[in-house]
Amino acid sequence: MTHVGIGYDVHQLVAGRKLVLGGVEIPHDRGLDGHSDADALLHAIVDAILGALGERDIGTFFPNTDPRWKDAPSTLFLREAGKQVEFAEGRIVNIDATLIAQEPKIGPHIQLMKETIAEALNMNIKRIGIKATTNELMGFIGRGEGIAAMAVASVQLPDNHGQS
Ligand code: MG
Repeated sequence: MTHVGIGYDVHQLVAGRKLVLGGVEIPHDRGLDGHSDADALLHAIVDAILGALGERDIGTFFPNTDPRWKDAPSTLFLREAGKQVEFAEGRIVNIDATLIAQEPKIGPHIQLMKETIAEALNMNIKRIGIKATTNELMGFIGRGEGIAAMAVASVQLPDNHGQS
């Protein structure tokens, strides 16, 4: 059976942090604030994958109170989500995501983000969609106070998934 999951994440843009999105470091005057590298795109994708499995959110797997995840690269969380799919004897069919950022320009980095995600999940790059949009200068995203991401994941799972 095919299951779908949805994910959403948002982090605040602050001075003195690197900006990492989709596992790619992007030159910018500010970065996303958080316990890990605060990669909102990967966090949304991880939640979408976990959601398709009927699991709880990324924070229950990787609590932000655990010093092990301090400044951790979120590709580590993505790999773990991929492992959870393997444990469930499943296969990710496709992932689609949208980044919402007023600045910086995301377009030039999308190909490398896709390559990074495809490598971490051992997936064909053609099964990964990443788009980006601004917030038309409206609200907290439009003012450049933060960056948000939404994602869906489709996962093929055995018919008896969740039954013991
Ligand atoms: Mg997050």
